[in-house]
Amino acid sequence: MFQTGHHGLEGLGRRLFILGRVLVQLDLHELQAVEHLIQLGGETFGDPGLADVHHRLEVVGLGLQELSLFGCQHGALQSSRVRQGEPKLCIVVAILAAEAPIITKSQEKPMPRPLGIIFAALAAGAALAAPPATLRVDYYHTGTAQAESFAVDRVVVEPLPWPGNLAKSIDDTNRGKFYFEVVDRATNRVLYSRGFSSIFGEWEDTPEAKTSSFTSSESLRFPMPERPVQINLKKRDGQNAFKEIWTFTLDPKADTVDPSLPPGPGGVIALEKNGDPYEKVDFLILGDGYTAAERGKFEKDARRMMELLFSKSPYKEHRKDFNVWGICPPARESGISRPSTGIHRRSPLGCTYDAFGSERYVLTFDNRTLRDVAGYAPYEFMEILVNGQTYGGGGIFGLYGTVASDNAFGPYIFVHEFGHHFADLADEYYTSDVYYETGKARIEPWMPNVTADPKHPKWQALLTPGIPLPTPWKKAEFEKDSHAYQKERRQIRAENRPESEMEALMKREEAKETVHLGQDTWSGKVGAFEGANYEATGYYRSQTDCIMFTRDQVPFCAACQGAIEQIIRLYAK
Ligand SMILES: [Zn+2]
Ligand SMILES: [Zn+2]
Repeated sequence: MFQTGHHGLEGLGRRLFILGRVLVQLDLHELQAVEHLIQLGGETFGDPGLADVHHRLEVVGLGLQELSLFGCQHGALQSSRVRQGEPKLCIVVAILAAEAPIITKSQEKPMPRPLGIIFAALAAGAALAAPPATLRVDYYHTGTAQAESFAVDRVVVEPLPWPGNLAKSIDDTNRGKFYFEVVDRATNRVLYSRGFSSIFGEWEDTPEAKTSSFTSSESLRFPMPERPVQINLKKRDGQNAFKEIWTFTLDPKADTVDPSLPPGPGGVIALEKNGDPYEKVDFLILGDGYTAAERGKFEKDARRMMELLFSKSPYKEHRKDFNVWGICPPARESGISRPSTGIHRRSPLGCTYDAFGSERYVLTFDNRTLRDVAGYAPYEFMEILVNGQTYGGGGIFGLYGTVASDNAFGPYIFVHEFGHHFADLADEYYTSDVYYETGKARIEPWMPNVTADPKHPKWQALLTPGIPLPTPWKKAEFEKDSHAYQKERRQIRAENRPESEMEALMKREEAKETVHLGQDTWSGKVGAFEGANYEATGYYRSQTDCIMFTRDQVPFCAACQGAIEQIIRLYAK
């Protein structure tokens, strides 16, 4: 038996009790999600009716296919079924008025019970503290390469309670270009902090930022505080140290804080569930550009990508530390926008190729919509599958990753982009065209897998004993081949030739580079190899080859593996 609720016994007049559950095990998080929704309903509409509870549960889904509710409201027994058919799950709910006679028992004929039994249930459930709600601040980040400003857009309570581990509220991993802190105003204690990167953070390094202005919607999510807080936003300065750039105060009880539900995205698929969200890394795979008829394809695509991710170390060894969820709002037409070839689509999540003028860079600039959709799953990380074959993707730390589902290299890109998004891994490659300008000075980057100091790399503990630093490799030969390949690649795009030709070219490159990088003197060893982070000189990577360097069939390098494990530890118990 469970009792859920936030307010102790005084709030009995409007309490929800979930007194029985049968057939399917609901975990604590799901029970609390149900309670959370009813509480939101109660705050919005007064006493929540069962019909409203049904509506909210159906919208959220939680991966539950069939659901029955039996309840008692003000002493009158009500019963209703969310969908027709045999229920896989039955929750007995009593919404109590203080003086109401009490109900209930699971699935069998509901029976009146003395009030004393309810109090016994309350006592038994007292140890199960309910999690806080999830508060989200959406804001606008506007500026040029020289100046930037911020403005709060809206503050919302997300549909689901906080999915994170409250014991790991402080981020000490030193990742991201930005960092935010939620500080209790009364005590000045930091309640929550996280590093992250953003689209604006990339845009300000493009050549256009020198002459034009740009606005991006961004979000900060954190556990609902009990009292007013101050939020401090920090950014890396010229020496990569965090410096405060924006601060504002927030009263979580202000009447502008919006608890209403956004439009539902059409159900949540539990792709892999290994436990309670508080104890797991919660990873949400979203679909964009899939029609309602292609929902089955989305699920197949998502499972294919997920399996490849879990075949790579260190995800492989930590599979049980993850839950994976899926959401795919139906698109009116198949595919996403690709303006450089005249294709425009109003896809549900707004993903598009040609971000920042790079034909293979896929992003969505519609953060508000994305966040409203994602909020229906417990999530900490998300990657969007865009329905189509043309090579492309993207990944921003703490925001999201993207990948084209049907490209021959789709699963590889999925894993590579997730590396950017999940662990702030830098690109180790340096011979491709990139859309933004990197600085001339070689200040030590914060990303965990590249260094400007080959004699003392961040991965010092992992170095192969006795390896020369910097470590020699057949660099000139690699660059000659790589530049020849880049030329061919540009030609194929310029002539808009079929994607199969591009895939064939990439396969040839992969075969050649696998041999080249796999058979060098120090292949497989950990050192400091020059060429990384979009620069041929001055930045170093830890191994000759890595998922962040080429599309070869190779593992993550030692530095990347260590950095990924560190993030898993920040979210999983
Ligand atoms: Zn990359
Ligand atoms: Zn690496």
